[in-house]
Amino acid sequence: MKSRVISVRHFFDGEKLHPEPCRIEIADGILRSVTPGPAPDADEHHEWMLPPLAESHCHLFLDGDELDAAKRKAHLDAGFDTWLATGRRNLERCRDLGIRVIRDAGDVHGVNHRLREIAAGMGIRVISAGKAIRKAGRYGSFMALEVAGVDEIDAAVAAVAAVAEDSDTLKIVLSGIIDFANGKVKGEPQFTLEELRRLVDAGHRRGLRSFVHCSGEDGPALAVAAGVDSIEHGFFMTPAILEAMAAKQIAWTPTFIPVEFQYREPQYGGWDAPTRGKLRAILDNHARCLRLAVEYGVPVMAGSDAGSFGVRHGYGLLEELALMRRAGMSEEAVCAAATNVPRRHFGLPPVHLRPGERADCIFADALQ
Ligand SMILES: [Zn+2]
Repeated sequence: MKSRVISVRHFFDGEKLHPEPCRIEIADGILRSVTPGPAPDADEHHEWMLPPLAESHCHLFLDGDELDAAKRKAHLDAGFDTWLATGRRNLERCRDLGIRVIRDAGDVHGVNHRLREIAAGMGIRVISAGKAIRKAGRYGSFMALEVAGVDEIDAAVAAVAAVAEDSDTLKIVLSGIIDFANGKVKGEPQFTLEELRRLVDAGHRRGLRSFVHCSGEDGPALAVAAGVDSIEHGFFMTPAILEAMAAKQIAWTPTFIPVEFQYREPQYGGWDAPTRGKLRAILDNHARCLRLAVEYGVPVMAGSDAGSFGVRHGYGLLEELALMRRAGMSEEAVCAAATNVPRRHFGLPPVHLRPGERADCIFADALQ
C-alpha cells in the first residue's frame, strides 16, 4: 500500500511533545517514520498529531448543550429511551472529536452501562461507574444510589458490592455543590473518614478504583486520608492536600469548565458582581493549585464534567484543555493529561506513537 506522508507542527508521541515540526510516514496502519523538519512531499498538513483523547469525567446521559433550566430539569424525568438517545448523540460527537476513552462519572438509571456497549461498537471505551454512592438526602440524586437505613454504612458497603457486579469503577459523592454566592462548599462531607475508608476498601476488594466528587478543604483531606484513587473537581484545593496526593499518587481531575462557565456567563446563574469576583477567586486558586500539582507530581487527568450546566460533551473537553494550558500547565503535560495519564489510571495500555508501532493517533487543527 502507498504510504501517507503527513506534515505536523506539533507531535505528542504519548510521552513527549516534539519541539519542532515533523514529517510523518504511515503505511498499512503502522507508523513507519518520524523525521524532524519540513515535509515538502507531504500529502496532508495538520497542526497536531497525538494519541486519541480521553475524557476523564462526564455524564453521558445528560445534555450539556441545553441551557434552559426548565428543560434540563424535565430531562431528568424524560425516561430511559430519551436518555439513551442523548447519550448516543454525545458519544457520536466525542468520536468525531477524537475522544476514544470516556469515564462516565455516574448516573442513577444505569444508562451509562448500556452506552458502554453502544460505545464499544463505535470504537470508544467507556469506563462506567454505573450508579454512584451518596448518603441519604444529600447531593447527587441524578447520579447516585442513596444509602440509608438503621445501619447506613453497612447499607453503603452492600451497595458497593451491588455496584461492583457490573461497574468498572466506584464513584462516591463526598461533598455537596459549591455555594458561589458565599464562595464555599455546601454542608459537611457526606461520610466520615471511617465510613469513606470502608467504602473505598470495599471497592478495592472487588477490584474497583474509586473516584470521589469533592470540593472544599474537608472533603479532599478526608478523601486523601481514606486512600481514594482519584479526586474529582477539588475546588478550594490546598498545597498540603496536593503534597499528600502526590505522595500517595492520587489522581486529580480538576474540571475547570463548569465553574468557568458560571464566571463567563453570569446571567444564567443570576450572579452579581461580588459573586462573580468569588468565582474568579475560586478559579484563580484552582489554576495556582494545578501548577503546584504538576510540580509535585500529582497525576492530573483532563475531564470536563460534560453534561453539567454549560458543559457540552466533546467540546467541553477541548475547552478544559485550553483552560489547563491557560492555568500554566505545559502543552506536553496537558497532552499527557488527555491521553496516557488517564489511560494508565483506568488500567488501559498507554499509546506510544513510535516507528514500528500501530498509528493509533488523531490529527487536529486546533487542540486548545
Ligand atoms: Zn460529575
